[in-house]
Amino acid sequence: MPDQQHENTSPDIPYTTATPYDQQSLHALIEHGPEAVMLLNEDGHILYTNQAMTSLIGYDTAELIGRPLFSFIHPEDVETVRERLATLISATLIINTHEHRLRHKRGSWRWLEVNASNLLKHPEIGAIVLAYRDASHHRNLTSQQNKAFLKDMQDLIAGMVETVRQALIVLDGEMRVIKANEYFYEFFQAHPREIEGVSIYELGSGQWNIPRLKELLERILPTNNPFDGFEVENDFPGTGHRVLLLNARQLKLHGIGQERILLACEDITERREAERRKDDFIVMASHELKTPVTSLKGFTQILQSRFKKRGDEQDLHFLARMDGQLNKLTRLIKDLLDLSRMRSGELPLQESLVDLNELVQDTVADMREIATHRFLVEESERISIYGDRERLEQVLLNLLVNAVKYSPEADKIVIRISRTGEEALVSVQDFGIGIAEADQQKVFERFYQVSDTKARPFSGMGIGLYLSNEIVKRHHGRIEIHSQPGEGATFLVSLPLLKMEEQA
Ligand code: ADP
Repeated sequence: MPDQQHENTSPDIPYTTATPYDQQSLHALIEHGPEAVMLLNEDGHILYTNQAMTSLIGYDTAELIGRPLFSFIHPEDVETVRERLATLISATLIINTHEHRLRHKRGSWRWLEVNASNLLKHPEIGAIVLAYRDASHHRNLTSQQNKAFLKDMQDLIAGMVETVRQALIVLDGEMRVIKANEYFYEFFQAHPREIEGVSIYELGSGQWNIPRLKELLERILPTNNPFDGFEVENDFPGTGHRVLLLNARQLKLHGIGQERILLACEDITERREAERRKDDFIVMASHELKTPVTSLKGFTQILQSRFKKRGDEQDLHFLARMDGQLNKLTRLIKDLLDLSRMRSGELPLQESLVDLNELVQDTVADMREIATHRFLVEESERISIYGDRERLEQVLLNLLVNAVKYSPEADKIVIRISRTGEEALVSVQDFGIGIAEADQQKVFERFYQVSDTKARPFSGMGIGLYLSNEIVKRHHGRIEIHSQPGEGATFLVSLPLLKMEEQA
């Protein structure tokens, strides 16, 4: 055969007719050959079909010749085939392969793979040549597999949705309930009939009609903005007083061409209750500890002055150590009390003008008493801010105690005081174990302690940084961490200067 299958061959290239076979034997080869062949004219009418084609679709040649191919093609495939043929006709000789369905004489549809080549310009053929092959086995298999896969996925999703102990609800763009899962009905003791089609804001006695929730829900579809962790505390009919944590996001349903909202409600009432009990316990335990520790501290001071008068140096040394431990205990109890006050919002700031340099020097002086590290203070100018001196001292002390505690192998801690346009900056830099990036925000959470240091002998309760951060936030400032594991950590406290200037 001539060199026909090169793509985009120019139509002007003449076909060679050199062949060792005569026309008749070639015709016989095609007529009785194993491949089903069909020739079409430019308009898509059938010019010729061979015997293999008859075995494939049941029609014999006489029934096909002169008829448009499209009258045998499945309606859903007509568009694709039209496009394919148009491409083929416009670009001479391109072979394009695809699959479509042809009607069998018995009326059923057969999936066929077709190789189509444009030989309209061929001087002896002058037709579009279609070579068909049966693809029904592979097609049916695929669609069966697809169906099985889709069914599996549906079952899997339905299983997941009905198994989770979270109430799930799907809303339309008007915030009407489309569907909810079993747990939703069970939890809210509702029936699909009562809630489907009803606006979420009208459910129960309006417990979901919360302006902020409304705002969040109504922003989801136009902006594709999901929300997580919105807390709702309310009395719900059938379930009573509950604290719910809501997450919601957009669902794009291509099949129905519409968008929906999936709302998940997690019941955190018990978790909240457990936290409250833990907080109550902390308040009670710290109050109970405070009185005996205060009196122990008092008696230690009396003993210290008596032993001093007697000149009993050795016992005085032991008493000083006892006093040091009592100070530590007092600080722990104070932290615990602060923690519960902070939680209940009862930690008012006693604000005044604070000389930051003096505050740093005083706190560092206290640290020099109890630690052997060298504390280097770098200060270039005097800075005052408006804030609660005692609380800010507590923050700095906590950062310095941590710097010492988490740099047992180092001997130096650097404290810097500086200012930018609107902020006073105090940083504490140590050269110790450092904090991995993933832990840097978590260390500000209550009771969080970096786990890989757990094995090390560091004592603590994981509340110092939580308190420090809360105190700084109340001063409208922030704490940042700059650290690499093994290379130490720098805690940078920024506090606004603005208030001070307003006061001046
Ligand atoms: P703790 O009482 O455990 O020191 P904090 O709230 O003060 O509690 O600190 C929380 C955690 O942050 C610590 O347990 C420690 O893992 C980590 N951390 C705090 N400061 C430093 C520091 N300077 N270097 C390395 N890790 C630190």
